[in-house]
Formats: sequence, structure tokens, C-alpha cells
Amino acid sequence: MIKRAQRIAAIPPYLFAEIDKLKAQAKARGVDVIDLGIGDPDQPTPEHVIQALNESASDPANHRYPPYEGLPEFKQAVADWYNERYGVELDPETEVMALIGSKEGIAHICWAFVDPGDVTLVPDPAYPVYRTGTLLAGGEPHALPLKAENGFLPNYNDIDPTVAKKAKLLFMNYPNNPTAAVASPEFFAETVDFARQNDIVVCHDFAYCETTFDGYRAPSFLATPGAKEVGIEFNSLSKPYNMTGWRIGFAVGNKDVLAALSIIKTNIDSGVFNAVQYAAIQALTGPQDGIDRMNKMYSSRRDAIVNGLNSLGWDLKPTKGTFYVWAPVPEGYSSKDFCALLLEKAGVNVAPGNGYGEYGEGFFRIALTVDEQRMQEAVDRMREHGIFFTRKR
Ligand SMILES: *Cc1c(COP(=O)(O)O)cnc(C)c1O
Repeated sequence: MIKRAQRIAAIPPYLFAEIDKLKAQAKARGVDVIDLGIGDPDQPTPEHVIQALNESASDPANHRYPPYEGLPEFKQAVADWYNERYGVELDPETEVMALIGSKEGIAHICWAFVDPGDVTLVPDPAYPVYRTGTLLAGGEPHALPLKAENGFLPNYNDIDPTVAKKAKLLFMNYPNNPTAAVASPEFFAETVDFARQNDIVVCHDFAYCETTFDGYRAPSFLATPGAKEVGIEFNSLSKPYNMTGWRIGFAVGNKDVLAALSIIKTNIDSGVFNAVQYAAIQALTGPQDGIDRMNKMYSSRRDAIVNGLNSLGWDLKPTKGTFYVWAPVPEGYSSKDFCALLLEKAGVNVAPGNGYGEYGEGFFRIALTVDEQRMQEAVDRMREHGIFFTRKR
């Protein structure tokens, strides 16, 4: 009899399994499924980055174990990038650490700070790893509801003070997956105050740092006065440079927090392949025009879907960042029922909001990772099949 560890039993079932099954069945029936469910850039990695990988991969010096915390040149490139883009000064020695993608760091930070029974503050809806990372470490995630009426920001005044006092980590993510909400410097300042009052380490996931539209620039949490005393920021090459498959990200900020994370990492992994780090340096320091081009492309797609859905009765505002649109389901449907209907009738796949947490119920997420023509076609098919947004009076 093979017996799994308890910590695996604590992981909730994969909530997208059912819709994934429906999608596979539709495809098997020969339906041309328009898949708006996947949050993975559809464009290739820039050519100069691929070239840097090819060259570095041929050098035998790079075939050996990399330095645990990242090549000094990589950490310097990250520090320069942060200074230039966000006005944040970082000591590359102690305040920058390479990660095997930011997901790896987010999961492992829990092992560095969460003992069994410890509480973490986790937004809901959210990227699932904050919650599952906590559970794997034996901790108890406490949900911070993100509600439309609060601009999908947590309200710190709503947190029970005894829970706040117990909490070890606070996760947040702006520009936000899945809601596409953005945070102001004032909200970040409130976060620093809250973290100071309760001795909480703030972990800001800044994966969509560069995916912003119409002239909007997303602030780094670390640009907030006092932020570096209370927290760190997770960041990644994945989304700005179309490098999700390459597995390279980084954590920046409080050096004591990073030192703790480093103890976990040095005992579990042995760093990022040097050639991938050299390619990442090219991404960070080479031509940056690809980012603008990507953002123009995403914002045209956003306009196609937002205007399209609004013509079907929705009332969506243009988003400022991320490659997602978060929309309410018509009244009378659960997230799951509406997503199943959309797939069955129109052959359009979207992600049900409850997959991101219980407060995601009543919403669905559209990813802007297919071309504009297909987005348009998705709207046309919805119209054709009478799928409109309606609200009971
Ligand atoms: C894509 C994504 C990540 C993970 O990025 P990697 O660096 O590829 O691991 C982290 N957080 C959010 C919110 C994401 O959407």
C-alpha cells in the first residue's frame, strides 16, 4: 500500500479539471475551440535572447553548477533594471536573488517563514501558489477577499486583529492576476503600515510589472518608503520577455528575508543554468522595444474583447495591465455553469473564476493570449448563440 504524505492530502483538488475535460471533449468532437483560458504569452522570446542562450550554452564553463544565488552579472543587471524602471536601489550582493521562475520562490518562501499552524494572508481570488505553498508548509491560509467595490484590493481594516497578529506572510499581486486590478502607491503605503504594526513579511508578486497599457506604469512595491524593511518583491522574465518556458525569475528586497529563502533553496535546488542567466541578462539589458510592441498588441486585443462583450450587454472598463479581463457571469449562472455553456454552445474556453478562490465565484477570466481576429470571432460566436449579459431586475 503506497501512502502519500499528509501535506499532499491538504492540497485542494484542481478546480480547472472539469472545464479542461469539457475542452478536451469538444476538441475530440472536432470543435474549433477558441481557447481564452491560458495565461501564457503566445509570442516567441526575442531573437537576441535566444542567440545569447545558444552562445552561452556552447561554453563548457557554463556546464558546471551555477552559483546558488545567481551570477553576479545577472544580479547586477536586475539591480540596474530596477533602478532605471522603478527608481528602486538594490544591492546586487544581498538584495537580489535568482529564482527558477518566480513560482519557485513563492512556494519556497513559505518553507522559510511558515511553521505548522502559522497563518498567511492570501488574497482571494488569486494565483493559486500563495495558498498551496502555505498548505505544503503546514500553514493556514487566511483569505483576504478582493471585491469589485474595493477595486479588488484587500481591506486591512476587515482583518480580525488577532489573525493579523498571528500572520507571518502577506501575499499580494498588482497588476493582478486574475482581476487585472492595479494598486496605487497609497495602497502600498497602507500595506507597509499594516505590515509594521503586525510584524508581517510582505511578498509582492510583480509578475505583470511591464504588462501595462495606455501610458500607465505600475509602481514597484519596493518604491514605497519603508517597504524594503518589511518585504520582498517576486519578479520574472516570463511575462515581459515571453520566457515562461525558460524558468528564470528573481526575488528582490529585504536582505534578511532573502537570506532565509536562500537557506531553503541551497538545500533543494542548485540554481539556474548559467546560459539561461546570460540570456536573461540580454533580455534585461538589450533592446526593450519588444515590451511596447507586446503591450500594444495586448491592448488591441483587450479593446476587441471589452468592446465586444460590452456590445453583448456587459459593462467592462478597459484594463490598465496584465493580459487578462475579469468579467461577471450573467445572473442565474455559477462560474462553472457559464464556462461550460460558453464552451458547449460557442466553442469558447475561458477560466471559471472560482478556480482562483471562493471570492472568484460569479466571474470568469479571459486571457488576451490569442490573436485579435480570434477574440473577435469569440464575440461573434457568443452573439450568434444568444449568449448575452443579463441581470434580473
Ligand atoms: C505567471 C505568473 C507567475 C509565475 O511566473 P514564473 O516566473 O514563470 O514562475 C507568478 N505570479 C503570477 C500572478 C503569474 O501570473
